[in-house]
Amino acid sequence: MDLKALIRDIPDFPKPGILFRDITTLLRDRDGLRYTIDFLAQKCIDLDFQPDYVVGMESRGFIFGAPLAYKLEAGFVPVRKKGKLPAAVHQVEYELEYGTDMLEMHQDALHVGSRVLIVDDLIATGGTASATAQLLEKIGCELVGFGFIIELEDLQGRKNLPDVPIISLVQY
Ligand code: 5GP
Repeated sequence: MDLKALIRDIPDFPKPGILFRDITTLLRDRDGLRYTIDFLAQKCIDLDFQPDYVVGMESRGFIFGAPLAYKLEAGFVPVRKKGKLPAAVHQVEYELEYGTDMLEMHQDALHVGSRVLIVDDLIATGGTASATAQLLEKIGCELVGFGFIIELEDLQGRKNLPDVPIISLVQY
């Protein structure tokens, strides 16, 4: 299936000069959504990831991460922006284009040795995914890989990630 045909390009969003890859048009397509999750799951099976948990980042990582976890018979753990999670959290600060932001995950969500797959809709600079990997490192989890729907290859985000398999379904 041609996933690029279902991803909409929005120029100048969220600010002038940025070409935003909009996945809402993929999500609303029943065949496209099913194909995307099945395709990602098959790649995870082929790579023998066998995660105990899929970790997804707020907010589009939730949309793909939860059905993927279901298919892989894993649990789903959300990583959220600062102040959203109710119980005790681990925090990691990460760089934005201007300034920094904070990601959080519940302290008791994962354990030493948990096999974890990190999932998001898109990798650009890799800052978000790399910060999430740092959260797992604090706990002592085993990171088995990363899964993205879209990879913006020019930004070379892969270079900022730990040395584990990285799946992307569509490259720009
Ligand atoms: P990074 O941290 O790799 O630079 O940026 C990736 C994060 O920003 C992801 O969480 C992703 O959801 C969001 N993001 C950045 N650019 C885009 C885009 O063009 N389309 C979508 N859907 N998400 C984007």
